[in-house]
Amino acid sequence: MDLTLYNTLTKTKETFEPMTPGRVGMYTCGPTVYNYAHIGNLRTFLFEDLLARTLRFNGYDVTHVMNITDVGHMTSDADAGEDKMETAARRENKDPWQIARFYEAAFVRDLERLNIRRPDVLPRATEHVEEMIALNRQLEEKGFTYQTREGLYFDTSKDDDYGKLMPRLDRDNQLVGAREAVNVDPEKRHPGDFVLWFGNKPGHIMQWESPWGVGYPGWHIECSAMSMKYLGETFDIHCGGIDHIPVHNTNEIAQSESATDKPFVRYWMHAAFLNLGTKKMAKSAGSILTVQALIDSGYDPLAYRYLCLQAHYRSPLEFRWTWNEDGKTGRAQSLDTAQATLQRLYERVSHAEDDPLANETAYTQAYNEVLGYLNDDIALPQAVATLHTYNSPRLWRAFDPVLGLDFESRAKPRVEEAAPEDVLALVEQREQARKAKDFARADALRKEVAALGWEVADSPQGPTLKRR
Ligand code: AMP
Ligand code: ZN
Repeated sequence: MDLTLYNTLTKTKETFEPMTPGRVGMYTCGPTVYNYAHIGNLRTFLFEDLLARTLRFNGYDVTHVMNITDVGHMTSDADAGEDKMETAARRENKDPWQIARFYEAAFVRDLERLNIRRPDVLPRATEHVEEMIALNRQLEEKGFTYQTREGLYFDTSKDDDYGKLMPRLDRDNQLVGAREAVNVDPEKRHPGDFVLWFGNKPGHIMQWESPWGVGYPGWHIECSAMSMKYLGETFDIHCGGIDHIPVHNTNEIAQSESATDKPFVRYWMHAAFLNLGTKKMAKSAGSILTVQALIDSGYDPLAYRYLCLQAHYRSPLEFRWTWNEDGKTGRAQSLDTAQATLQRLYERVSHAEDDPLANETAYTQAYNEVLGYLNDDIALPQAVATLHTYNSPRLWRAFDPVLGLDFESRAKPRVEEAAPEDVLALVEQREQARKAKDFARADALRKEVAALGWEVADSPQGPTLKRR
């Protein structure tokens, strides 16, 4: 079955065809590790996980690269302000290296909690500075750069198709220069030009030697250098949040294609935002809602995963959260509902014995219907709604490699009606006997259970118990 994906570059849904049959190279802009990820960031990382899982479900061998930005991301995406790592270091009275490693570990833990498969490669920017310098050199040799007292710039006027990823309106605005005008380098030639290397930040702790002075790389060049190192000069899919379209990803295309004269990426995919109330959630906006806060508030992180499955990745997701007075915990009605639905789902999926899709033809038809939604630009809300309609444990399980709701360990067959303690104890003893291959004793125990009015049966997931 064909897989169609919406490509930001062509602004249409296209049939996905990888460069090399059967293989997909996929890059996603990773976190800037200066704070905990908020659940908005994680919505984007969840989307990328769902995309990678969908590709694998379709039989592709996926190489997923996600960078860790641990230097060079300024407080404004357009190079103004200060490096976020340095601000955090000052805030926490640590050095930026400690900050970076601490929040990187916290990020990886959040991925695990949300059942987001760990990307195959997680390169750190600080460990690829050499590659970034080499790419900047290449751009310099080809005449795409100029140097000011602040550092090395990319000259956007030299790039004929600069801004092709953006909608026309954004591009016009950018070229006219209607961008934030604070702290702009007076020697910068065009409003869209951006920094490839910061060469004049004497207070900056993370510093490297370069032909343009001791300093550090710009954020955009990091992603060009790391993606091409691990996936080649042209690769299949590049993802990010929609905020990356007008600056960061636009500049990645400009640098990479000017350096290589080859198309950089074939499919660009962008995830819409999670909005807290009607406001965008930003890591820099004070109190941030983390996975840990969800857990402290009594939520299963997978309830958040389930909630995200119910909104299409290209639609904004409104989220209302009310903090309790402690400022650490809170509630969201949408999460209460998601959690309750998920609990019912685990219960339902545990009961494989009354599957409405017992008939193979009916099952195959339903399977293809769900796959059809999934392969139509990852239409998970429809896929999930269809799964609910069929209400088939087997079908839910079949799609769990994509959904990632962990039915395998969470939807174990359980007792239908709460059995009394003494019956449960006997069942447990019988399990022990079976494990020890003492089948005579196991059988005797089964009879004891029966005498108390219960019937024990064995399934691949363990013993089940029901009233006789
Ligand atoms: P950052 O760590 O700030 O570089 O952001 C990491 C990722 O989160 C990027 O792909 C952003 O586009 C994305 N992002 C930032 N804010 C939100 C939000 N409120 N909802 C969804 N994604 C977001
Ligand atoms: Zn990036």
